[in-house]
Amino acid sequence: MKYPILIAGGGLAGLVCSIELAQAGLRVILIERKKYPHHKVCGEYVSNEVRPYLEKLRLDLKALGAVEIQRFRLTSPRGNVLDTRLDLGGFGISRYRLDAALYELALQAGVEVVLNTTITDIQWKADGFEVQTPEACYQAEIVVGAYGKRARLDRQLERPFMQQPSPYLGVKYHVRYDFPDDLIALHNFKGGYCGISAVEEGKFCFCYLIERAALKAFGSIPVMEKKVLARNPHLYSILHEAEFLYDKPEVINEISFAPKKAIENHILMAGDAAGLITPLCGNGMAMAIRAGSMAAHEITGYFNHHHNRAQLEEKYAQRWQNEFSTRLWVGRKIQRLFGSEALSEMALHFFGMVPPAMRLVIRRTHGSPF
Ligand SMILES: Cc1cc2nc3c(=O)[nH]c(=O)nc-3n(C[C@H](O)[C@H](O)[C@H](O)COP(=O)(O)OP(=O)(O)OC[C@H]3O[C@@H](n4cnc5c(N)ncnc54)[C@H](O)[C@@H]3O)c2cc1C
Repeated sequence: MKYPILIAGGGLAGLVCSIELAQAGLRVILIERKKYPHHKVCGEYVSNEVRPYLEKLRLDLKALGAVEIQRFRLTSPRGNVLDTRLDLGGFGISRYRLDAALYELALQAGVEVVLNTTITDIQWKADGFEVQTPEACYQAEIVVGAYGKRARLDRQLERPFMQQPSPYLGVKYHVRYDFPDDLIALHNFKGGYCGISAVEEGKFCFCYLIERAALKAFGSIPVMEKKVLARNPHLYSILHEAEFLYDKPEVINEISFAPKKAIENHILMAGDAAGLITPLCGNGMAMAIRAGSMAAHEITGYFNHHHNRAQLEEKYAQRWQNEFSTRLWVGRKIQRLFGSEALSEMALHFFGMVPPAMRLVIRRTHGSPF
């Protein structure tokens, strides 16, 4: 089976990339490990940076139930509060709905989608790729790696970040809670932070990132939540008053924010596979969508304007660097402020004294609408 373009992974980056390529008249196959819809560990706040783009793809955000979010609240581990407005703003929608809606658009655009199939190996063979799944071997001229933050494929590609420790754990629930729809709150606690914001149908996404050491120390998620998160009084209230809608939380392990490369063994990496921004920036989804679109643009240039492979790789790597490297760097620096209780208190105090500083940091981690 030979394809011009194969996309490994159908999250936001992979789906968006496949839709644009198919709409440009190119044959594209996308292979995704799961089927749609599915839940995913994610805060589900999408920056308005990508709203015009999603609307151009004809994604009807209103019909999907997306909720407008315009205000931001930051709390310290002791419960001190800082409120600000979000200059760009965003919207809340579950990944359960958003990814499935993009999948429908991909089918309509003519993308060939293979679901419930894990890619086990991607080999570069002089002038193209061999992509292995348990059932078949695909040949492809171009491969986009859109398989998310960390996969076995990274180990096979011997990517250096796989050698570094990945000390974080992500946990997510959907809850019902008495909370304003237009507000996203980021509550800090020792060793992590937790976001809460509205998604469709009156539900809220409650999602946190925490050092794995905390789970090791307390043995289970409920005990860890009681002993660590609930020390922040805002989180105490949510944990005690909210109605939790899942039987058990969605959990992911081994989250790393180490730098990665946008091109790896000729594969164009997009979304988290190329670099994961710290979740407190609330912008990983927008970056994945933007990177998927950038990859599609450069691949279209390769096929329709006869750019060669070296040009394709160089242009994509350069654009990726220009667009995302500063955001990722700023994200890593801010994350350090929120690891310890004392630093979080100091950061909140500082941002309270100098409100434009917080808005500047938010701007430096976001791009302009496209
Ligand atoms: C705790 C936490 C909270 C976050 N909160 C927010 C937020 O509020 N706002 C925001 O903008 N961003 C947030 N992010 C970041 C955001 O979730 C990611 O940046 C975004 O999901 C990246 O999209 P992606 O398409 O690159 O990867 P993914 O959405 O992870 O998609 C990758 C896909 O590849 C598939 N896959 C993996 N391996 C294989 C394989 N071998 N074969 C086939 N398929 C495969 C997976 O099943 C998956 O569907 C958060 C992240 C974390 C960890």
